Amino acid sequence: MAQQDAFSRLIEALKVLPNVGPKTAQRMAYQLLQNNRDGALFLQQALADALSAVQHCRWCNTLCEGEVCALCSDTHRRSDVLMIVHHPVDVASMEAAHCHDGLYFVLMGMVNPTQGMDLKNIAIAPLVERLKHSHINEIIIATNFTAEGDATAYVLHQLLKDLPYKITRLARGMPLGGELEYVDAGTLAQAVYERRHLNQDN
Ligand SMILES: [Zn+2]
Repeated sequence: MAQQDAFSRLIEALKVLPNVGPKTAQRMAYQLLQNNRDGALFLQQALADALSAVQHCRWCNTLCEGEVCALCSDTHRRSDVLMIVHHPVDVASMEAAHCHDGLYFVLMGMVNPTQGMDLKNIAIAPLVERLKHSHINEIIIATNFTAEGDATAYVLHQLLKDLPYKITRLARGMPLGGELEYVDAGTLAQAVYERRHLNQDN
């Protein structure tokens, strides 16, 4: 394949952004090159800096600067309760609701039940590794109340149910189709406080 010219490559690059199709990418490219070259340089530098500085926390898998994130480094938090969420934004929602003082694990995705329950979109291997180095008693599955969230919860439960943890999931007080990110803090806190056991024996 012939090497693309620089302008076409920029359009291709901009299409990696979510919800950006060819037309929008083309508009962005013109905007940057015609009207906002300083902005383009700022974007270039910020992207390069973030790529070299931001990585996955070695404990909770969220994105952070440095090896371990601020939450995992906080020795005042309970280390015996681990809450599993989809995305870093869910950690922010939980923290805003002040309803969980334990640790987190961030899957960075969800299982899609219409695509064969494929696990490639969630960080299973880092989770297994995380559990090897812990003193966790309870695992709270805090996935969304959507088809993907339910599928993810099912997969996690299958993975964890024979291990010696109390497994709980957020209460059904969450609205159906509810994504943690968009649920108000009061409802979220209630769902955590009223979480239900998934394994009966504990
Ligand atoms: Zn962390």
